[in-house]
Amino acid sequence: MADAIRVLRSPLFGDGSFLHGFPERTGGESVGLRASLNLGYRWGDDPELVRRNRARLAEHEGFALEDLQVTKHVHGTNVWRVGEPLPDPPEFDGLVSDRPGPVLGAFSADCVPILFGDPVARVCGAAHAGWRGAVAGVAERVVERMVEAGARAADIRVALGPSIRACCFEVGAEVVAAFREQYGDVPGMVVPGPNKEHVDLGVALTASLERAGVTHAHIDATPPCTRCHSERFFSYRRDGMEGGVHMGFIGLKGS
Ligand SMILES: [Zn+2]
Repeated sequence: MADAIRVLRSPLFGDGSFLHGFPERTGGESVGLRASLNLGYRWGDDPELVRRNRARLAEHEGFALEDLQVTKHVHGTNVWRVGEPLPDPPEFDGLVSDRPGPVLGAFSADCVPILFGDPVARVCGAAHAGWRGAVAGVAERVVERMVEAGARAADIRVALGPSIRACCFEVGAEVVAAFREQYGDVPGMVVPGPNKEHVDLGVALTASLERAGVTHAHIDATPPCTRCHSERFFSYRRDGMEGGVHMGFIGLKGS
């Protein structure tokens, strides 16, 4: 018997407009470093186990598996609005929906899964941001595409999911330079480490989102660190491609 599924939720989405969450690694059927709720197909897990893991999550959360739409993880800034023709090639790190039904999934394993929701206009979004996406502005692009769909930036709530935090995200000087070039000297974005400097993706993404007009109080940017908590989360830096993948998800509830 598998462990129970555990899902982190942000209080910012507590008004009942959305189904949403960031599942931890427990409650699935995958084994080894992918134990147990691996939700990604791309790193070589048994596809049947991944399918069953997704089905378990869908049942736990009350959505239909066929309603799931997921990011393609290419570290770009393309955002696909569900219902539009797919981009060519069909690659996008962000998704937007303005109707009940679709459930948007954003993959991560140290990268930041980001969930967006405007409960007033009833528009939601999801994105995956590693350091390249954070520098390229994928979070801002999701906000822009939500505004095109009727949202107001000032009404959008954003939750960053479990991801590698500044404690563990040691990077090279070229990565530090890329963040500084994009966001300037934001306090806390670059912090000293024992060897090289570390970057706080939450601080960088908050700067990015505020630039797009999202209110500071509407950004939940203090998720737990995936690399520090091996019993709860997958981590690419810890386990490489032998490990599993998380998927944050959000969808509009029917009204
Ligand atoms: Zn850490």
